[in-house]
Amino acid sequence: MGTITDKERIEEALELIWVLNEDGHNALNRFKLSSDDSDITSLIGTLTERKLALVNEGEIIFSEKGKEIARGLIRRQRLAERLLSDVFEMPDDTILNDACKMEHILSEELTESVCTFLGHPPTCPHGKPIPRGECCKKFKIEVTPVVTRLTDFEVGATGRITFIVPSDPNRINKLNSLGITAGSVIKFLQKKPSYVLQVDETTVAIDPEIAKEIYIKKVL
Ligand SMILES: [Zn+2]
Ligand SMILES: [Zn+2]
Repeated sequence: MGTITDKERIEEALELIWVLNEDGHNALNRFKLSSDDSDITSLIGTLTERKLALVNEGEIIFSEKGKEIARGLIRRQRLAERLLSDVFEMPDDTILNDACKMEHILSEELTESVCTFLGHPPTCPHGKPIPRGECCKKFKIEVTPVVTRLTDFEVGATGRITFIVPSDPNRINKLNSLGITAGSVIKFLQKKPSYVLQVDETTVAIDPEIAKEIYIKKVL
């Protein structure tokens, strides 16, 4: 086995542990069953030898180092998905959910610029959280992001809603019933005293907290 293959197997394993952890799982058995690696036992051996993860009482647990690597990989993978979805407008269902190679679309060096360019998106097109990077903390807008929060959108402009990240899941249904949903094209009419949008022939006023949760891309 060449070193590149090893590296890929390790990366895929780390990504898998991350995804399982997100769903609240760290059982070693579940990891074994979810992995499609041809030699899971040796892979687990490699992970522990390299101190990327440790096995304890039937659980597989990240080391700090392993977690950092996984975090970076998942971040790149989900930003790449966003890029395909928001910029190239590829339908979300054609962006492979389990595309392990997705992060290779984005070089490590480009990650921060792409994140900034996309407006520091909080989730991938499938709704999974994108781990934050240094750029998201600074949040200094040096280039105009393609996707912005509605609160930062230009009054008078027309945009397509790319995604909604509701703090209250019940909101999604309410917004949907108003025609405010991912993919809808809206015209942003005013910011003050309240946020007003035009959706088809209807004018809708929304609260600032909700406006912050709607991400939009300008339609030229
Ligand atoms: Zn995704
Ligand atoms: Zn960022």
